[in-house]
Amino acid sequence: MNIHEYQAKEILSSYSIPVPRGRVALTSDQVERAAKEMGGRCVIKAQIYAGGRGKAGGVKLVHHPEQAQDYGKELFGKRLVTPQTGPEGLKVRRILVEEAVEIAREFYLSITLDRATSRYCLIASAEGGVDIEEVAQKSPEKIHVLTIDPYTGLRPYQARRIALALGLTGSLCEDCVELMLNLYKVVLDKDCSLVEINPLVVTRAGWLMAMDAKINFDDNAIFRHREYPDMMDYSQLDTLEINAGKYDLSYIKLSGNVGCMVNGAGLAMATLDVLKEYGGEPANFLDVGGGATREKVAEAFKIILEDGDVKGVFVNIFGGIMRCDVIAQGIIEAASEVHCTLPIVVRMDGSKVQEGKQLLVDSGLNVQTADSLGEGAERIVQMLG
Ligand code: GDP
Ligand code: MN
Repeated sequence: MNIHEYQAKEILSSYSIPVPRGRVALTSDQVERAAKEMGGRCVIKAQIYAGGRGKAGGVKLVHHPEQAQDYGKELFGKRLVTPQTGPEGLKVRRILVEEAVEIAREFYLSITLDRATSRYCLIASAEGGVDIEEVAQKSPEKIHVLTIDPYTGLRPYQARRIALALGLTGSLCEDCVELMLNLYKVVLDKDCSLVEINPLVVTRAGWLMAMDAKINFDDNAIFRHREYPDMMDYSQLDTLEINAGKYDLSYIKLSGNVGCMVNGAGLAMATLDVLKEYGGEPANFLDVGGGATREKVAEAFKIILEDGDVKGVFVNIFGGIMRCDVIAQGIIEAASEVHCTLPIVVRMDGSKVQEGKQLLVDSGLNVQTADSLGEGAERIVQMLG
């Protein structure tokens, strides 16, 4: 789960990590007022669920409140396209107005979950900022990586070694050690899969400060934090993924044109493999789960059909916990509701399979049934060809 930069900074700040003074604005008038409060000279930052905003025009230094307001007008409602958003971009609906800070040096600092070692690792670089991807690619030796032992946690000497490697000395080095230890506390307390500060800066006045912040929460731990669901900005999410989340369906959009509805992750993977084997390209991965109800199947079917890339639907379901006639009712209900005329192939097996097939045949939809997975895959590919 993602949150905005300003929310991430509130969390960091509550763990004694210095961040610039700032305010979140929802209108360009609020941007102007916030800019006045900051003394006129300030930084305007579009809040979207993606990085790379600086280069895309989503971060701007302004000198007067009127200039801030004008820029706010330009940004609000605009879709910002960055290398992390995809071609359609993300709409700006919140703007962070921050005091402008004079930067002397920019570093990169993050703690993220390394799934290969199942441990958190701390990553730091003396060359941080908007070109960090390039640094990682061209001079990987400049990136310091420390795998954190979950039993001992991050030790001060380890943090100090990294701070020294970044070229920090004296009290700045000690400040950085404290900051890293606090950052590790954030990661643990808040169940983060990523906390990233890029850039972490030394200001002209000689203080460490987090100029940008990104936090991802581990989705599997959301239940432990009652406040998380309210922190989510749904306007930044794919509507299909929101609906899938609401009905507890695992939905992942893919690039092909065959919408797939399957129960169980294992069967879903097999379905995608066999479909590809027959020359089809899946438009999504959708697991409706074992004990899906008719409503759930109907919702899943609608989610598939809302995807404009879908030209046909392949349903492959084993009716064990869920009976085949119930599945058929769900499909018919959803397809009729959205007036679906696309070809549909249903391969079902299990309880009440004959009743289910009969319901589909009698439904008047553009639907065919199949007895085996291979036959189903072949048929939907034929119907699309
Ligand atoms: P990102 O491009 O989405 O990662 O957005 P950032 O928040 O990192 O902003 C992009 C860049 O703008 C930063 O790397 C900084 O160099 C610069 N920047 C952001 N805030 C300030 C500020 O208050 N003062 C100055 N001088 N530069 C800033
Ligand atoms: Mn950044």
